[in-house]
Formats: sequence, structure tokens, C-alpha cells
Amino acid sequence: MAKKWIYLFSEGNAEMRDLLGGKGAGLAEMTRTGVPVPPGFTITTDACNAYYDAGQKFPAGLWEQVVACVGTLEKQTGRRFADAANPLLVSVRSGAKFSMPGMMDTVLDLGLNAETLQGLAEQTKNPRFAYDAYRRFIQLFGKIVLGVDGSKFERALTRLKKRRLDSELTTEELIKLSETFKQIVYDETGSEFPEDPYAQLEQAIAAVFRSWFGRRAIDYRRHNHIPDTLGTAVNVQAMVFGNMGGDSATGVAFTRNPSTGEADLFGEYLVNAQGEDVVAGIRTPQPIAKLKEDMPAVYEQFKGIVNQLEQHYTDMQDVEFTIERGKLWMLQTRTGKRTGLAAVRIAVEMVEEGLISKATAVQRVDAESLNQLLHPMLDPHARAQTKPIGKGLPASPGAAVGKAVFDPDEAEKMAAHGERIILIRNETTPEDLHGMIAAKGLLTAHGGMTSHAAVVARGMGKPCVAGVGELHINYATQTAVLGDTTLKKGDWLTVNGTSGELFIGALPVVDPILSDEFTMLMAWADEFRTMGVRTNADIPRDAKIARQFGAEGIGLCRTEHMFFEGDRITAMREMILADTEEERRAALAKIEPLQQGDFEGLFREMDGHPVIIRTLDPPLHEFLPHGNNDIRTLAEKLGLSFQRVKTRVESLQEANPMLGLRGCRLGILYPEITEMQARAIFNAAVTVQREGITVYPEVMIPLVATVAELKEQADLVRRVAEEVQTLTGASLDYKIGTMIELPRAALVAHNIAEVAEFFSFGTNDLTQTTLGLSRDDAGRFLPMYVDHKIFSQDPFESIDQEGVGQLVRMATERGRATNPALEVGICGEHGGNPASVMFFYDVGLDYVSCSPFRVPVAKLAAAQAALAAQGALVKIDK
Ligand code: PEP
Ligand code: MG
Repeated sequence: MAKKWIYLFSEGNAEMRDLLGGKGAGLAEMTRTGVPVPPGFTITTDACNAYYDAGQKFPAGLWEQVVACVGTLEKQTGRRFADAANPLLVSVRSGAKFSMPGMMDTVLDLGLNAETLQGLAEQTKNPRFAYDAYRRFIQLFGKIVLGVDGSKFERALTRLKKRRLDSELTTEELIKLSETFKQIVYDETGSEFPEDPYAQLEQAIAAVFRSWFGRRAIDYRRHNHIPDTLGTAVNVQAMVFGNMGGDSATGVAFTRNPSTGEADLFGEYLVNAQGEDVVAGIRTPQPIAKLKEDMPAVYEQFKGIVNQLEQHYTDMQDVEFTIERGKLWMLQTRTGKRTGLAAVRIAVEMVEEGLISKATAVQRVDAESLNQLLHPMLDPHARAQTKPIGKGLPASPGAAVGKAVFDPDEAEKMAAHGERIILIRNETTPEDLHGMIAAKGLLTAHGGMTSHAAVVARGMGKPCVAGVGELHINYATQTAVLGDTTLKKGDWLTVNGTSGELFIGALPVVDPILSDEFTMLMAWADEFRTMGVRTNADIPRDAKIARQFGAEGIGLCRTEHMFFEGDRITAMREMILADTEEERRAALAKIEPLQQGDFEGLFREMDGHPVIIRTLDPPLHEFLPHGNNDIRTLAEKLGLSFQRVKTRVESLQEANPMLGLRGCRLGILYPEITEMQARAIFNAAVTVQREGITVYPEVMIPLVATVAELKEQADLVRRVAEEVQTLTGASLDYKIGTMIELPRAALVAHNIAEVAEFFSFGTNDLTQTTLGLSRDDAGRFLPMYVDHKIFSQDPFESIDQEGVGQLVRMATERGRATNPALEVGICGEHGGNPASVMFFYDVGLDYVSCSPFRVPVAKLAAAQAALAAQGALVKIDK
């Protein structure tokens, strides 16, 4: 017997998302719990995968099961598919496990042809309605299933309408329009529009399967790290009509506000409209509250159902509904996408309402989405002094500044060159996705709060202003007019997705103020978290921000930037150009008090928490002047000959500086540098300790490959520490450790741990050296590697668990085997990447360290890792 490829809605449930997709599982669950859902069935994701395995053919038994299920639908509805007298029409919709805006849209009214059309007209006694449904069907099927350019239909419709609304077209005009549409299909495809409803159904199902590997779907999956292997389900459902007159409507709603999280029904609907009209932004929809006035009884029933759904799923729901002649039908329920701001508020309020536990709240907020709360906002001062040029809907919060661009391809290109872009479109479609990913912010002329642009922007955490009615875009000239202002491609623009306002120019932005709910959620995360979170901070200001976010120490202070400030660079250059050790020491002595001051600032901010300070890392030539003019100026300043400075600069040039004279190699060649830095660190520690502040200095030696290197530097640092303590009479609790950022260091970690009191994995360099991929250049081809699935993700962003990750695991085990007290952390960029944080938790690291604004992200991810390890269910909204 053939495999079961199809489940009726009455056979499935919410747990079957893998097989039925999110939409199918939601429809099944609603049916099971007695919510009014038009009958239908779901073709499984397995069937989609089998379709590809069979070389894009239906697997054995699938079609027979489709026909049998259509028979069941006929019984359930009392109508017959392909029957002229009493036609059953269906919708066909894709539905993967995670909702994907890049997938195939809905085909509505499938089953219509010249004969069933007449049946529909007679049955409903409404020929206008029947022809309207017919032309919509040809248009949708033509565009989505047959691949005809949608603008061809749009143009024919616009020509006919002559500035009237769709609803003002006469029956005769709609008849003519459907003929025109069929002709377009013939001209574009070379074939007649399919008349046989079963052929229509077969083609539509195949089109859904094919859309799984459409470019938009692939783009979306890459961006959201969704595997290709999941496949999509296909939902076939009996049609209900929201376009049957003034007592019919269609809409979408969220059980809570998806932008702010406010616990209030939020949504939009259109009277006498069908399906995609609401999200497509064709007419401006009404807010859901208006339904209370228009159809009070339906509104009450709707409210009751969505409350029940929220209670049932214990999460905010995103629903679609249709009202057909006063009868309410629910067409979809799913966990609603939300901004980071809304996610935090909803999670915390649901705990307060007793709907979910604290652990669930902590697990439910996507750690990455916290970035949105931490996003820069418009500087209120600058805002007060600047007049907006226009206003639209505040579709996705945060402020973004960039150059106006009207074309998604252009946006992608310019962003690849490091430009900041605001993408401006009439409305967006999934075809624009790559441009939306590239842009810093989005602006649309049409569409509501549930338009494609709004939904996708919120999901991505990008600021978006939607539906700026007065914005007139001319794609041909790449300009837009808004009131008195003309915007050209490349003009600077600021969008405030929190207020919906638009400004000409690049306005200053400021750090956000954090909500009470955020503080509460972070406190709960701390209750569950077992792994530490430190920060990478080089200056007291960053350290202070990180402390406010709850960083538990500094995991990495890169000391190099301190050498570039003010006049220190001259002293540094003097040191590099010096001939004798004495001269070098004299030059370094000028820098030492300044360095000491820097370290004192860090110790003060980190009162009672450890501070890891790394000795100098970058190659020396980076400190020297470039170009003859700079060399001349320096030579004059130091009283040296031009030639001497030039020769020295040239002698320090390296073919491959990343693998050259950097890291501990510098300190070994010039021990005076390490000595000066160690003295500055310990003197700073003593000074701050005397102020009554607890200090835990940890000195870290970079780019160590052998234990001998570390030993030489560690001995030097320890000698200085002892000298400082003897001289000052102070007693310091300090550690000396190393970065593990070369494969050899990981391999001999057991030896290195004989000398090191701590390890900190420098996963940036460890990734570079393990994969042999230049940190500086790989960005040019890595996206292609990800496209070709050679890497599932950029290994500099999310740790390569199989390769680099195994070195981390092995070195941790080997290090601890020698030295059980070894403190082990990570300070590469991966420390703020949630997937990597989960991995480091699994390895058993003591802490992760990341940039200040990522501290909350890392804390939440660490708490989620701990909860997952306790066997709790991790449910992170995609
Ligand atoms: C690293 O290599 O991961 C690291 C933290 O050091 P840097 O980025 O300064 O080389
Ligand atoms: Mg490094």
C-alpha cells in the first residue's frame, strides 16, 4: 500500500508541524477543537521531499489520495469538484514548518472554468461575483502556477478601471477582463488556460512543491538558518468567500500587538474583499476595532475564538479569517511573528497572567531579537529640531539612516560596497527579499501594518515605515515626490519605524532606554543561567554600558587602540624606531602612565569582577606612518632622517601580517613592551585597590603556539607583578593566562595549561587559522560558499562546530586534565552569537565574552542553553 501522503484537517493536530507544516497543523488543531474552519486536507512535507526524490514527479499513490480526499471534501461541503451545477472551489496554499514569506502565495477559487463559472453565478445568483472570482483565479493561477509576469495582468486591470475601484467594475467588464487575462496566459505560455479542474489542482500542487526551491524561498531560508531538507506541505481547502457583498469580509489579526506587545486585539479587515487583498495593500484596510460597529455579533464571536486560541496555544496568535454572508470562518492560526520589544513584553505579561512559566518565557524570546530592543533610536533633541517630511505607519521600530534606493538589486549591490541603504518601494513582495536583507531600513508607499513589508521587517528587526500615502515613486527616474520634497537615488534619509516619521538627511541616533519587562526577563534568565557572560571592552565607557547590561567582568581588553590615542602614537613610533633597548624604554616610559590610567578606569567600572587585559597583539608596521608625507612629518618630529624612517617602515612590511610578527611574538622580541604593560596593569590594580575597590586583574598573552612562548612571557609578567607588590606593599589576586587561537595551541593545550591559569579561545583567529581563511578577505567569497551549501553559515559569525568547535572542546578537555582549576572562556565574536553560545555551554566553558550590546543576547542564549540541558523544551519562534 502506498504511504499516507495526505491528512484531512480532522485527522491532524498541533504536534504534527514537521509533517503538516505550521499552517496545516494549525488548521487541524482548530478543526479538532471545534473552531469553525472550512474543510480541507494537507499534503505532507514528506510528499514534497518524495516529489524531489522522484525527479519532480508525484510519488506513487499521491494523486489517487488527492482525488479521494477531494471526494471527502465533496461530501463535507455538499458540493462537487468540476461539477457545473454545484461547483466546489478550493484554495491551494503552501505551508512549511516555519512560516516563510518567500514561499508560494495562495491560489484561490481553483476549480473554476467556463462551466463551473456558470454554476457559481446561478447558485449565488450573483454573476458579477462569479466573474470577479474567475478573473482573480486566472490572474493568481497565471502568475503563481504558470509563472506569467503579474504586471501584465495588473496593467490590463488598470487600463480597464480608469481610476475606479475594483468593486466598481461591471459584470460585462469582468467578463471582458477574464477573456483578456486568458489571452495574456496564452500569449505568455503558448498554451490555453487549463479548463480541467483536476489538471488545475495537479499543477497548483506541483507549483507549491517547486516554490520550495524558488530563489525567494532559498534566500529566506539562508537568512533564517532554516534547513532545505524540511520541505513544504500543501493545504487544499474548500473556499469561503469574503467578497459576497457588504455582509462579507476578510482580514488578519494578532491576539496582541506584534510591534509593542500590548495585550490588545490588533488587526485589519476589508469588507467585500478576498484573501490577499488585505496583505497586498490594494485598498487601505479598516482597523479590527471597527468590526465591532460593523458586525457586532461576529466581532464578539471572533474575539471569543481568538482568546480561546491564545489560551490553547499559550502564545500570541496570528490569525486569518473570512466572513461569508455574516458567517465567520477561521482560515489560519499560527504563532505570531513579533518584534523583540513585543516578544519580551508578551513573554513577561503572560507569566504575570499565569499563562506560562518563567522558564517558558525565557525560552520563548529569540535571543537574537533582543538586538532590536538595543537598537539605536532617533536622538530626541535632533528630532525636536527637525521637521519630518512625511509620515506613514510605524511598521517596525527603531531608527535607520541610509541612502535612498528604489531597486532591490541596486540595494544589494550598494550594500555589498559598504553603503547604508533605505529601500523604498510602492509595496514589497517576496521578490524584493534580497534588497530588504541588504537595507538598513524600509519605506513603502502602500500597505498596512500587516503588509509584506511590515511583517518581514519586523521579523528581521529592521526599522520600517509603511503606507506613506503621499509618497509618489517613479521607478523609471529613480525618484520619489513627497509633498514639496523630491527624493533622488542616493539622497540621505532617516526613517523612524517607531513613530512612522521620515526625515531628509542623516539624523543622529541614540542608544535605547530599556523597559521594565526587559529587566525582568533578564533577571529570570540569570536565575536559570549557569555559564558566565563577560564583555569585550577596551575603554571605561564601553565597560560601563556592559555592566549596565549585567556583564560579569571583562573577557578581553584589546590594548592596541590605547597606543593610537593623542600623542601616544608618536612615543610608540619613537620606540619602534629606536636603536637601543635604553631608547626603547625611554619611549615606552612616556606611554606607561597613560596606559595605567586606562586600566584604572576599567578596574573601577568592573568593581569586584575580573578584568582580562591582553598584551599588545597587532603587527608593528600598523603603528608606523604610511606614505612619504607622513614619513617626512614623523622624521622631522623625531629629529631623524627621512631615509632612516622610510627604511625602517619598509623593513617591517610583511607579506602576510596576520601570520607575521604579532601577538606574543612581539613581546618576545621586545620584552620591554610586555614589561611596560604589566607594570601599568599592576600599578593600576594597586591604585584602584587602595580606593577600596576589589580588583581581579588577569593578564592574557595572545597568539601563543608553544608552551615555551607562554612561559617566557608569563615569567616576565609574574616578575613584574611581584616587583610591584614588593614596592607598594600591596597584595594582588591576579592570574596569568593565554589565548587559544592557533590550532597548535589547541593540540598542546595540556602542556600550555601547565603554565596558564586560564584559557580564552580567540575563535576569530582560530577560525582563520583552522580553515585557512583570511579574516579580512573571506567576506568576498563566503556568501557564495553559503549559497553553495559548502558552509551552512558564515563560520566567522556562527562557530564551525564540527571543525573549530572540536578544537575548542579538545583543548578544554586537555587543559583541564592538566589543570583542573583552569578557567576557560571565549572572547572571539562568536561569544555573542546564540547558536555558538549554546555550543560553548555544551562544551562546558566557564563564560563567554562579547561586545557590550550583545551581553543581553548572550545571557539569554546561555539561560536557554541551561534550560535545554535540563530537558525543557526549547521553543524559539522562527
Ligand atoms: C580572536 O582572535 O578571536 C580574538 C578575540 O582576538 P582578535 O580578534 O583581537 O584577533
Ligand atoms: Mg586574535
